Amino acid sequence: MNILILPGDGIGPEIMVQAARVLDKIKSEGEDITLSHGTLGGAAYDAHGHPYPDATQALARSADAILLGCVGGPQYDTLPRAVRPEQGLLAIRKDLKLFANLRPAMLYPELAAASSLKPEIVAGLDIMIVRELTGDIYFGQPRGRRTNAAGEDEGYDTMHYARSEVERIARVGFETAMKRNKKLCSVDKANVLDTSILWREVVTELGKTYPEVQLSHMYVDNAAMQLVRAPKQFDVIVTGNIFGDILSDEASMLAGSIGMLPSASLDANNKGLFEPIHGSAPDIAGQDKANPIATILSLGMMMRYTFGRADLAQRLETAVRKVLAAGLRTGDIATSGDNVVGTRAMGDALIAAL
Ligand code: NAD
Repeated sequence: MNILILPGDGIGPEIMVQAARVLDKIKSEGEDITLSHGTLGGAAYDAHGHPYPDATQALARSADAILLGCVGGPQYDTLPRAVRPEQGLLAIRKDLKLFANLRPAMLYPELAAASSLKPEIVAGLDIMIVRELTGDIYFGQPRGRRTNAAGEDEGYDTMHYARSEVERIARVGFETAMKRNKKLCSVDKANVLDTSILWREVVTELGKTYPEVQLSHMYVDNAAMQLVRAPKQFDVIVTGNIFGDILSDEASMLAGSIGMLPSASLDANNKGLFEPIHGSAPDIAGQDKANPIATILSLGMMMRYTFGRADLAQRLETAVRKVLAAGLRTGDIATSGDNVVGTRAMGDALIAAL
């Protein structure tokens, strides 16, 4: 396992220290793991003048998988757009052709009180949202600003999907469903959009080659509603870039803290970039307060999706369950009366539980 570590900015280096300790532990048991280290985002701009420098690009291209902390910070907000930290993230995703974004929304029963929804609606929630990441209205041409026939200033974008783009993300959806409960819900807006009519046709056709998967279709407005009404009806959701952007953020809030949620962005060969969904949390950076669990679970996704090691993924997930069951909480997931620990102590507990 040739893994590139990119700590990034803010709390990134702190949470990554804990992930590296977990990797050391697994390596000490005889797993063949080689680590390399690089910079991305603001840290890369500071060191090399670019958020995705050549040195990082070379390391990223040769790695099997990449573990990223998070990027950004107020000190970079005034930089020209082309060298802002987030551009590093967009550049690496594009460079590595990471078209499939997998975002689980799960809620450990111990944390049900941290959700804004009633515990009985969300306790035990476990959804996977598969979002297409490189197409749709975010990249469609033409786009821009113009003066219309009436002389008025207008902005316009183009929603666009080619059959092959829908097919490859739908395949990831079906394959993911096969690894879980064999239930896939495809979300579109086929009552209004031609792009969605094609989407639904292609997903339905591909579904015939996955007879074991129970396929359903839902309009995106209804999906947004169902996610807060009865989220446990879903197992895997597959959808386009813009719908997935919105629904995955909505779903992550069901789970309470963003300090708990991992993500994966995969290419056609399951090479991937794995990262927590949260940002660099500058308000708590350097204070030993950050929750490292989302990063550890991102590592779990790497083991499962890039390396096909469900056994190691399960060990990491079980370790997280154990520390939560033992009552350990970082500040972001604590409710009154909880045993609040710092980043390092949470890492110690996770390694002991492993
Ligand atoms: P954020 O996710 O960094 O923080 C939001 C809130 O959640 C803060 O109160 C923070 O303290 C808390 N939080 C986040 N992660 C936590 C963790 N692991 N443990 C405990 N608490 C945690 O979002 P923001 O404040 O809007 O953005 C800060 C910076 O991060 C910005 O520069 C933004 O552009 C960047 N950002 C980066 C990514 C990424 O790297 N993928 C994603 C979102 C935002």
